[in-house]
Amino acid sequence: MSATIIDGKAFAAKVRAQVADEVTKLKSEHNITPGLAVILVGEDPASEVYVRNKGKQTVEVGMNSYEHKLDASTSEADLLALIDKLNNDPSVHGILCQLPLPDHLNEDLVINSIAPEKDVDGFHISNVGLLGTGQKSMVPCTPLGCLMMLRDHHGSLSGLNAVVVGRSNIVGKPMANLLLRDSCTVTIAHSRTKNIEEVCKAADIVVAAVGRPEMITGDWIGKGATVIDVGINRIPAPERGEGKMRLVGDVHFDSAKEVAGAITPVPGGVGPMTIACLLANTLTACARANNLPEPEGLTA
Ligand code: NDP
Repeated sequence: MSATIIDGKAFAAKVRAQVADEVTKLKSEHNITPGLAVILVGEDPASEVYVRNKGKQTVEVGMNSYEHKLDASTSEADLLALIDKLNNDPSVHGILCQLPLPDHLNEDLVINSIAPEKDVDGFHISNVGLLGTGQKSMVPCTPLGCLMMLRDHHGSLSGLNAVVVGRSNIVGKPMANLLLRDSCTVTIAHSRTKNIEEVCKAADIVVAAVGRPEMITGDWIGKGATVIDVGINRIPAPERGEGKMRLVGDVHFDSAKEVAGAITPVPGGVGPMTIACLLANTLTACARANNLPEPEGLTA
């Protein structure tokens, strides 16, 4: 039997529509417009595309978008001065500094200089600590998107066995913390994990955040499990013509979908949820800054 396909594109559209409704209410009832500032240092082509998409979607849900494009040679002092200005600007509720930064800039220092309550990426050390101790925090967008899809599919996650493959600070670790908070029994697997296939096969939920194209095949997946594929890998696609590429996940979709109960595709799964959750986080940050109730279903 073939798995249910979890449609991240449609889910993300639903999240954006809910955010847009809440923004309309904030404007009409409180005269507040949420604002998201995005800082891009340098001219990395992939980052430029992300930043353009973020800006477009921010405006589409009715928020203010402030883009700050800085030269690749910008000094750390100048970047920190800009962040300080945005931290103190009441019209800015969310600040995101697009990573990676050029080598001469200290990423940890830059991220930790963003006011934690405006850190809509959830990467500030205070937010990491708050999430790890089960307190209210800003939650990293990609794991938040995965959690929303899992909650939507399963209802309660309590008692389920979840395996997160990958232990990065931006996906694997926060994902594991979120699943633990929802009372899953969580295993984090990584490059040194022994018998990783068996570890995955015993899970009710597998979240793959590895960065290795199609590594997790159907024989790693337990019958009926839910598979969330975070991976975005570009591989050659000669069948589409010379020099053409295509996107695949960390999961081998065709074999996994024959065993899994539900699975996210790549593209069209986790990817679209990431920006939708960035908008949700900006809305949450705005509600908190104005002592208003947080919109339901948009936070962890
Ligand atoms: P990292 O490279 O930071 O981390 C990868 C993790 O995978 C590491 O913990 C590593 O283990 C583990 N790993 C690598 N090889 C193996 C292996 N053979 N077996 C088991 N574990 C392995 O990646 P990210 O977390 O940043 O990203 C992961 C994937 O998610 C990438 O494809 C990325 O493009 C994608 N991504 C997608 C997003 C989206 O919006 N959909 C957002 C962010 C990322 P170890 O620690 O032992 O080295």
